[in-house]
Amino acid sequence: MPVLSDVIAALDTLWPRERAEAWDAVGPVCGDPGAEVSRVLFAVDPVQEVAEEAVALGAELLVTHHPLYLRGTTSVAADTFKGRVVHTLIRNGVALHVAHTNADRADPGVSDALAAALGLRVTGPLVPDPSDPAGRRGLGRICELDVPLTLAEFTELAAARLPATAQGVRASGAPDRPVRTVAVCGGAGDGLFAEVRAAGADAYLTADLRHHPASEATEHAPLALVDAAHWATEWPWCEQAAAQLDAVSERNGWGLRVHVSHRVTDPWTAHRPSLRIREGAPN
Ligand SMILES: [Zn+2]
Repeated sequence: MPVLSDVIAALDTLWPRERAEAWDAVGPVCGDPGAEVSRVLFAVDPVQEVAEEAVALGAELLVTHHPLYLRGTTSVAADTFKGRVVHTLIRNGVALHVAHTNADRADPGVSDALAAALGLRVTGPLVPDPSDPAGRRGLGRICELDVPLTLAEFTELAAARLPATAQGVRASGAPDRPVRTVAVCGGAGDGLFAEVRAAGADAYLTADLRHHPASEATEHAPLALVDAAHWATEWPWCEQAAAQLDAVSERNGWGLRVHVSHRVTDPWTAHRPSLRIREGAPN
């Protein structure tokens, strides 16, 4: 049976920590490097219910995409919600490891998993990593649809293939607009509109699109926007990552049992379409 330091070395090979953004906080959060690991849980968010799921499962390692402490802390006392997570994990012998922007930029990375969930063919990164001679690593992905869809059909596809959330999927643009080239970026992708335009994308699927960036992007040039829940765009990575660790375990004869959390940790829990009819709008 491997010990935690063996498994973390494997995770660091898949998602090298030095490839994370400078502002990020990736790598181990808690855990004893010498402790044996037999069961691993992957999840997007290191929240209390996920920590408790790891404990109930008997996992010795929880791997999350989002950091628990992005900006550092001076206390892990259990009277804060993050401290409570730390206490739950340590008391039950569960280590926590984070693979965030290093997993975004990886090959395969978070946006590859998002593209795969939608059955899209990836042609390259949206923002290539200059340190990758193969040109496969980087932020976001450009994808081609073999058969063009309308924006309405593409939105339906995203709603059908991504894990269900209260937010669902919303779109901006004429519903009959043809979509063949799609840019995708798991998580908050509204900083990449210039790259999306340069790639000649017909549509951009990402999350957390705010009014002003979205309004300006669509006024600047015709671009269909498809906005899904942040959690839903990153959750496919958990399955991809679990399969990658499974393959490592198999190669090493570790016999790890690798699980993916299906708990929806998106903070939004309700959504209703507006019912008030606009004045002058057709009935
Ligand atoms: Zn994220």
